[in-house]
Amino acid sequence: MTNLDPRSMIALAGFMSAVMAMVLLFMRRHYPPSIRGVGGWAAAPLLWLLSTMLFGARGAIPDWLGLVLANQLLVLGSVTYYMGTRQFMGQPATWRTWNWVMAGTTVVFAWLTYGWPNYAVRVGFFTVVMGVLYAAQLRFMLRHGGRNFPVRLVEVMLGLHMLVLGVRLASILAGHAGNDLMEPSLFQTLYIGAYALTVLMLSIGAVLMATDRLRTELEHLATYDSLTQALNRRALLQRCEDELERAQRYGNGPSIMMVDLDNFKAVNDTRGHQHGDAVLLHFAERTRQVLRRADRLGRYGGEEFMVLLPGADAQAALGVAQRIHATLATGHPLDCEVSIGLTSWTGPQETLDAMLSRADAALYRAKEEGRNRTVVG
Ligand code: GH3
Ligand code: MG
Ligand code: MG
Repeated sequence: MTNLDPRSMIALAGFMSAVMAMVLLFMRRHYPPSIRGVGGWAAAPLLWLLSTMLFGARGAIPDWLGLVLANQLLVLGSVTYYMGTRQFMGQPATWRTWNWVMAGTTVVFAWLTYGWPNYAVRVGFFTVVMGVLYAAQLRFMLRHGGRNFPVRLVEVMLGLHMLVLGVRLASILAGHAGNDLMEPSLFQTLYIGAYALTVLMLSIGAVLMATDRLRTELEHLATYDSLTQALNRRALLQRCEDELERAQRYGNGPSIMMVDLDNFKAVNDTRGHQHGDAVLLHFAERTRQVLRRADRLGRYGGEEFMVLLPGADAQAALGVAQRIHATLATGHPLDCEVSIGLTSWTGPQETLDAMLSRADAALYRAKEEGRNRTVVG
């Protein structure tokens, strides 16, 4: 294996940091503020960039810049990345411990540069600090990160980098530290190459994590009603279609209910629109509590809701309807009365349109017959 020139590799790592910092800064500016931590992720490659610039200028600048500060900026960048990850995953960014780590390592580093200059010990110390930092982040992500691809990618990169750090430490202990970072050797090539790759992949991982979160948020917005968190009309009808298709293959179709709040206009007129909203939310929460796991509540429009009950015949669906009436009559100040039109699957020739109009007609009859009741159509 040819040994690459460390200086060129460091320049390459710096270039990649600059590009990734630009991408992440753009995302920080344009992504919704609900996606937290992107600021930390954007600051990290900037700090790494500064660090690589100082490393690259070694020899031409004093050691406290090219050595001490360069190393500390690298550590700081990695801590910042970790804090970004913590924020992204909804955990407090606890800098306190790391401030102490930064202060302590700076003192040790300065001492190993000026007090007792020793390249091997300095590199060994730095390797352990980075290893501990990556281990802390990996442990955190395994606990809080979930299982999606971007998180796994970052975890694998952290793991691989720790492995490289382990190899580096072992090589130092075996007396192969070399004399200088800029000395081309197999270990230096491996180490600086791994560093450049990690810088790139951690930033890409951050971009993917934020994008994945944005997609989830948009999907949620496109699927759920923002007031009641019930499915919106389009999403609910899609689930109904899916259920009918499934029923054609397996034979047990769903029941559906149209649920309309009784005299809701009067609630709005006498108590105000906000109170009306609270009643709608209360209705949705209570109803969800009495539904089975597979059942779906959707907001059909205004104060009209729909419930999809997969695999429920009329008998079972009537039971659910009675539970809905009951759970809204407990004396809670936001309780309301509802009329329900219920209909069940009649066989493979069934269409959603037909079921919807039967449920609608049944709901109309429930209103006609005096409200606060369920009619089967
Ligand atoms: P009925 O028993 O016949 O259903 O009478 P109703 O008053 O419930 O029916 P109507 O259709 O006359 O009125 C529905 C009201 O629901 C009118 C509208 O202002 C209100 N509404 C629709 N969407 C919302 C909402 O998101 N928030 C609030 N507060 N009110 C809403
Ligand atoms: Mg109504
Ligand atoms: Mg209505």
